[in-house]
Amino acid sequence: MGKKVYNFGAGPAMLPVSVMERIRDEFLDFQGMGVSVIEISHRSKEFQNILVEAQNLFRELTGVPDNYKILFVHGGARMQFSALPLNLAGRVPSRKCLYFETGNFASLAVKDAKPFGDIRVVASSADTNFDRIPDYDPADIEQDAAYLHITSNNTVFGTQWQQFPESGQVPLIADQTSEILSRVIDYSKFGCIYAGLQKNLGPSGMAMVVIREDLLGHAGEQTPLLLNYAVYDKDNSLTNTTNTFAIYVVKLVLDWLKAQGGVAVIEKLNRQKAARLYEVIDRSDFYKGFVQTRDRSIMNVTFNLQTPELEAKFLQEASAENLYALKGHRAVGGIRASIYNPMPMEGVEALASFMEEFQRKNG
Ligand SMILES: *Cc1c(COP(=O)(O)O)cnc(C)c1O
Repeated sequence: MGKKVYNFGAGPAMLPVSVMERIRDEFLDFQGMGVSVIEISHRSKEFQNILVEAQNLFRELTGVPDNYKILFVHGGARMQFSALPLNLAGRVPSRKCLYFETGNFASLAVKDAKPFGDIRVVASSADTNFDRIPDYDPADIEQDAAYLHITSNNTVFGTQWQQFPESGQVPLIADQTSEILSRVIDYSKFGCIYAGLQKNLGPSGMAMVVIREDLLGHAGEQTPLLLNYAVYDKDNSLTNTTNTFAIYVVKLVLDWLKAQGGVAVIEKLNRQKAARLYEVIDRSDFYKGFVQTRDRSIMNVTFNLQTPELEAKFLQEASAENLYALKGHRAVGGIRASIYNPMPMEGVEALASFMEEFQRKNG
């Protein structure tokens, strides 16, 4: 075993140690086959079992209704920024697609969608460097739109939708990359949710898409085959060779989550973890939370210190204490602690204690 490090990286992020040990233990010999899980055909019955078990576990853990399809698609979360309008803008004659601009990934979602629809921003918090979820007028959610897109947790800035917008007849779509399975969510309120795997689910490079059946089949003729969700649905995500290893890891992470007690249990723990850090931040002016209190994320905790010099010292000393990858995104500066599902309370406690000690010495 190497040294014990707590990894606060935003993504690719830490995975549960027990999951990685299991991967290690069965890597050369999957279920007595004498070959590795990454050496077997994506069409073998052994792999198809993994895929179906992952889908079933996800459904069981989330309560996603039966009329939603669970897809594993290529290209991470960002590929979906293009795939969404390609699949959905054609649902309505206006080709209008509505977006909340709440952070850098939300901005990229707008940018990447532009060539494929009439892309409109309903509300933005860009004017205050995305330190909040913006207020909006419900009347601005035009009912002839193909969908309304939100980024439910803003990874870079550390904000999170506490209450999702009421979109009426317009299907609500959420990029949940940095919070999927971290809190109980009523999926029936959404037309589609999606998430890159590398924050709460597994390795990078793929995404999960959960989409209501009636939203499939509206892709235009020019839509590339492997960006068409209806094709993934028809082929149960095996149109071509999928990333078998990634799906295998997702299956193990879902097993792990179930063993923890499921989403409601992990949500409670996630709230305790975040509260511990925000409590240290709020106790004095030494640490300054980056975002407005009401919109704080329980997944990505962002804060600044008084000076860039002090922030550099903080990062250097934290690193010496084996608290890894705490540097904030360049758009925010300062510190970001990403505390996804796999981060144990002990890791958060180690960081909180370090913060208290650092303040005592430098405050
Ligand atoms: C990390 C992240 C992405 C980007 O994911 P990729 O898999 O790199 O495309 C998109 N949206 C959100 C909210 C993220 O946190």
